[in-house]
Amino acid sequence: MSQRNGISWRFGLNKTILHVDINSYFATVLQQENPLLQNRPLGVTKGRGRTCLIATSKEAKQFGISTGMRRSEGVVLCPQLLCIPASFERCLDATKRLQKVFKTIAPSIYIYSLDEAFIDISDCRKNLYPDAKKLGKEIQNLIKKELGSWVTCNVGIAENRLLAKMASEVAPKGAVLEVTEENKDALLATTEFKDVCGVGYRLAKKLARFHVQYPYQIRFIPQEELAIVVGPFWAKELLKIAYGKETHLLNQLDRELPHMKSVGRSITGYRLHEDDAEITNILKNLCLEVIDKVRNMNLAGRQVWLGLYGRNEYWDTHETLQIPINHSSELLLWIQQLYTRWTKKFPVIKFAIRLSLLENQIQEQLLPQWQKQEVVQKALDDLNRKYGLFTIHPAAIPPKEELIFPEVTGFLGDRLYQLRDSD
Ligand SMILES: [Mg+2]
Repeated sequence: MSQRNGISWRFGLNKTILHVDINSYFATVLQQENPLLQNRPLGVTKGRGRTCLIATSKEAKQFGISTGMRRSEGVVLCPQLLCIPASFERCLDATKRLQKVFKTIAPSIYIYSLDEAFIDISDCRKNLYPDAKKLGKEIQNLIKKELGSWVTCNVGIAENRLLAKMASEVAPKGAVLEVTEENKDALLATTEFKDVCGVGYRLAKKLARFHVQYPYQIRFIPQEELAIVVGPFWAKELLKIAYGKETHLLNQLDRELPHMKSVGRSITGYRLHEDDAEITNILKNLCLEVIDKVRNMNLAGRQVWLGLYGRNEYWDTHETLQIPINHSSELLLWIQQLYTRWTKKFPVIKFAIRLSLLENQIQEQLLPQWQKQEVVQKALDDLNRKYGLFTIHPAAIPPKEELIFPEVTGFLGDRLYQLRDSD
């Protein structure tokens, strides 16, 4: 997915990056699909019964309702607020369609999250897109054509991803904003840290305590003093941001990964769980999903990790194996074994497992036990593909109606898995 624009980088030529950010994605996709929802203040929750708003429509935003608020807080601001569960699958489908559109523009694209993408037009700007702003407008039209007229997006254009993303963040909804030498410093002096990619909520808050709100201000703070407050790594990173240079986080996107390094799955329950059988059943369910994903990508992993979270407690453990595994029976066994290490028990609200150190060199094993497992697993894979995941599953895991199925998250941490079909 991430393509390196090595030549222009090496020779220090100017790059041109576009950052496309669909406005109020989860809400917009639902509104596009159902015209009755258009022009209505909409709050989107993660699922039925959930109260946290993971997205809001532009109409809801006008009432001051923002992502992260509780439904009850939203209703206070706007009694007509309509709350509906998100459809991650439909959004993922829309993202895959966008991916295809972006690929017609330039070969170098990176889907950053479900609703955001970077398009690197450095190599084709001169011949194909001399007017990048015009291209930004064209992209907006192409997206409307593909996903529907209700879908609007912001496009930021700059010499690197940090500035392009910053531009699309601060631009008015549905606008195209290009960062030039003339407006760059003004942008850095007026964009709050909370709108800068990679600067987390805590760091922004810490800086605000020292009355530092905008990247430009960092230029006037001695590095040693900044390092005392934020540590040496962030002191350096903040200085890069102050001058509009790309940060470590965004630079990392250039490192082409041949395949995913780990596949994990976590779930937060509706209530606390204390019963061993209940807890292990949930973990087994997560194991099946992880193995399905790992096998789908023809990978196998050598490190098994288990994490359990209580209201205020946390415990985790892991084991590094000699031979990579990708059978559900093997992962189930290892998770069960790791679970026995958990002695200081507490009620659990969140469950997490991970299979990492993934490799694509899967060695067939000669032992009959392994071969038998492989035959069974292959049969399961076929059934899962043909009739849907968990059509057949071990009797030990919860009944069908309580099964936990895979979900797509907005950030697309598993983008190499989710977007693999359309490559
Ligand atoms: Mg967006």
